[in-house]
Amino acid sequence: LSEDNLFSEQLELSDYKLIEKIGEGAFSKVYRGKPLENSIVAQNYKNVAIKIIKKDILTLEDNELVEINGEKHKSSNRTSTREQVLKEVALHKQVSPGCKNIVQFIDFKESSSYYYIIQELLNGGEIFNEIVKLTYLSEDLTRHIGKQLGHAIKHLHSMGVVHRDIKPENLLFNPIDFIPSPQRKFRKSDDPNTKMDEGVFRPGIGGGRIGTVKLADFGLSKQIFQTNTKTPCGTVGYTASEVVKDEKYSMKVDMWGIGCVIYTMLCGFPPFYDDKINILTEKISRGEYTFLQPWWDEISDGAKNCVSKLLEVDPLKRYDIDEFLNDPWLTTYDCVPSNKD
Ligand code: ADP
Ligand code: MG
Repeated sequence: LSEDNLFSEQLELSDYKLIEKIGEGAFSKVYRGKPLENSIVAQNYKNVAIKIIKKDILTLEDNELVEINGEKHKSSNRTSTREQVLKEVALHKQVSPGCKNIVQFIDFKESSSYYYIIQELLNGGEIFNEIVKLTYLSEDLTRHIGKQLGHAIKHLHSMGVVHRDIKPENLLFNPIDFIPSPQRKFRKSDDPNTKMDEGVFRPGIGGGRIGTVKLADFGLSKQIFQTNTKTPCGTVGYTASEVVKDEKYSMKVDMWGIGCVIYTMLCGFPPFYDDKINILTEKISRGEYTFLQPWWDEISDGAKNCVSKLLEVDPLKRYDIDEFLNDPWLTTYDCVPSNKD
């Protein structure tokens, strides 16, 4: 979907008006939109986010190469891609009510060439961009975001859903207004007269504009057990014990994801990185990361301890969501005020 055929696209989506592109992922473009006046949705939402997934890529023959964002992909699953979108929609619809830290699902539409997932709009954009802008976040701000991510994951896990794609790009926020100066924090000293160009100023304070944080993107999410029965999905009663165990442990992938996000927010770069994908994979599987000097020098032992409990290779020893939410560093008094909503 290019900006040029936004108009023709508009004709296919009757109940909403597309305004401007606000984001994109590997298979989608996301627009800010408006529900048409007098519609039921308009009573609750002035603006919405519309995730548009093109159907074109699905009409190719199996194994044909499709180019998405400059990368070649095999279209081996053209029948299942429709199912995948419908699964994302069903899961998102199921999990979003009752959790203010999950982007609310609003509506789903389909035209001859596109799927449209209509969601609550988050005005601040991605936490990813805040890290880029500020280079790294203060411990207070990281905690403020981490807690809210924790609440979202607690909600999902208690419903038997694993998100599986936790990253700063999928964490969105609503901004808050100016925070009075006594609540501002500095990295190397609390002296507000320290100059920014000396690199001493704690840039994380700028993130005082981050209010409510919400988890988005259920494209890779999976339901692993039904809440009421606690039994795995699929044929109940015939599932092997190792599968039951595996599925229980698969929740721990989200905890690893939280660890990566918290690490990245605190220092501005991810815990595992290598240009070569096979070396990166090796590092991850061995849990080979460090609290690299000098970037981690000023960061508290409490924060490091929390990260290390999340980036634990053995899923049995890794924090689960309740342990994370009770972590002494995470539960330290938070000086960043939360948003009203
Ligand atoms: P994909 O599955 O293709 O990764 P996402 O659902 O993650 O798609 O959306 C892609 C990007 O679009 C996000 O990273 C974000 O920048 C933006 N976006 C998605 N949903 C919203 C929303 N509800 N409000 C504001 N921006 C959004
Ligand atoms: Mg995404």
